[in-house]
Amino acid sequence: MPGFDLHSLLSGKRRALAKAITLVESRLPQDMVEAQQILEQVLPHSGKSLRIGITGVPGVGKSTFIEAFGLYLIEQGKRVAVLAVDPSSPIAGGSILGDKTRMEELSRKEQAFIRPSPSVGALGGVAQKTRETMLLCEAAGYDVILVETVGVGQSEYQVAGMVDFFMVLMLPGGGDELQGIKKGILELADALVINKADGESEKLAGLTKQQYAGAMSLLRHNSFWKPQVMTCSALKIHNIDTVWEMISDYLRQAELNGAFSAQRVQQNCDWMHQLINQMLLSKLDQSSDVVAALPGLEADVANQRVTPYAAARQIINLL
Ligand code: GDP
Repeated sequence: MPGFDLHSLLSGKRRALAKAITLVESRLPQDMVEAQQILEQVLPHSGKSLRIGITGVPGVGKSTFIEAFGLYLIEQGKRVAVLAVDPSSPIAGGSILGDKTRMEELSRKEQAFIRPSPSVGALGGVAQKTRETMLLCEAAGYDVILVETVGVGQSEYQVAGMVDFFMVLMLPGGGDELQGIKKGILELADALVINKADGESEKLAGLTKQQYAGAMSLLRHNSFWKPQVMTCSALKIHNIDTVWEMISDYLRQAELNGAFSAQRVQQNCDWMHQLINQMLLSKLDQSSDVVAALPGLEADVANQRVTPYAAARQIINLL
């Protein structure tokens, strides 16, 4: 295809990867066509990484943890990509996740690739771009993909739906509600990791771990894995290796009983359905017949001349 060097991407050249991601994130119709062609070509080369989702409220230590964890993985001989899903960032043109001042040491490593959240507006769009970027990183030979998100909105659900292992970082002390974490998110977690277990907080972190260990044992969400609760200090680089051992343990078990590939298949099907919904919605938006008919139908519904159901049917029939 003109202008894009697939071979460079597959041999792990950063520039080629960055260029492909830029095309994937672009909203220009021509770029979108090219991006889809690239994605189709990389698909057979993707899927070989381990995908880990990491969430937690701002300040819990996500970037400090990812820096320590990423450096540890590189020591183990891995190549690490860090992506972010951050649709709610109020900072125009930039992202509160993945910006350049974070993960300074990791970002200088040849074996690391850090990409901030795509700024494409709606959550569905951001998540889709992040999924596609993940495939590109895998084709470029990254062994571990860390997908980071702020644990305060809906993006955790999207991230949990695109990774193999989903981890929630927490603070010592205080219940999840105090920490601003929604109940449902704990149900998605394969592990809770209580960060900042150092200095004066170490004891409290241990107590918090005990509290959650009880609660999480009730939430077992698949047949072979009981969500784990552990403590670490990203700052003091303590227990970072234990977190990796736990994830490796999960991976071994999930691969052994087929759950790993089953989950990926399910995620791909779910993704397809999400895309169908999105495409139908954008088709509706782009249909001049629909746009012309909507105001009249809205008035009819408002005046109870037509039922909402009948009006919706009329719109669908226009497609
Ligand atoms: P993020 O907003 O979740 O990405 O959090 P950061 O990684 O930016 O960390 C927020 C603050 O917590 C920073 O001042 C970090 O130095 C500090 N911090 C992060 N991890 C630890 C830890 O393990 N122990 C202690 N004591 N502080 C930490």
